[in-house]
Amino acid sequence: MSVLGSPALVLNADFRPLSYYPLSLCSWQDSVKSVFLNRVSIIERYDQEVHSPTISFKLPSVLALKDYVMPQRKPAFTRFNVFLRDNFTCQYCHDRYSANELTFDHLVPRCLNGKTSWNNVVSACTNCNLKKGRRLLKFTDMKLFKKPFRPSSIHLQNNGRNFPPNFLHESWRDYLYWDTELQN
Ligand SMILES: [Zn+2]
Repeated sequence: MSVLGSPALVLNADFRPLSYYPLSLCSWQDSVKSVFLNRVSIIERYDQEVHSPTISFKLPSVLALKDYVMPQRKPAFTRFNVFLRDNFTCQYCHDRYSANELTFDHLVPRCLNGKTSWNNVVSACTNCNLKKGRRLLKFTDMKLFKKPFRPSSIHLQNNGRNFPPNFLHESWRDYLYWDTELQN
C-alpha cells in the first residue's frame, strides 16, 4: 500500500482504539486536517513524507484524540451489533459467517408475538433459520448456543477484536492488542 493510501489509526484520549470493528481509521487527508485543527496528537508516523512547496511532513500512522470520547453506554440495536454480539456465529450450528450470510432469528417467532429485541433475536445462518422456521425451539431438535442478551459497549468492543482487518500497519499493533499484551 502506498503511503498516500495509508490511513491513520485513531485512538481515544486513553490510547485505546475508538472502535475495533470497524477499526477506527481516518484518511491521510483527514489526519492532516485534524492535526492542524489541534484535535489530535500524533503518536506514530509513517516513514514517508509528503511535500508541499514550503513544508515536508511525515504522515501520521497513529493519532490520539485530545478530548476523551465517552463510549455509548447502550449500544444501538442494529443488525451489525447483533451479529457482533454473537461473534458473527450462527447460534444454532455455531459456524462463523459474514454479515451478508447471517439472518435474524426470532427465538419466539414473530407470528407468536415475539419481539424484535436484544433478548429475542439471535444470529442464524440461512439454513438453520429455514430449518427452525416459525417454531419454538422446544419443538425442534436444534440447540441454542447462547441465550440472547443486551450487550454492553465493552462486550461489543471486545468481540470486535476478533476481526482484525486485512491491512494492519506494524505501528498500530501495540495499540490494538494493548490489553492482551498486558495480560500475557
Ligand atoms: Zn447455522
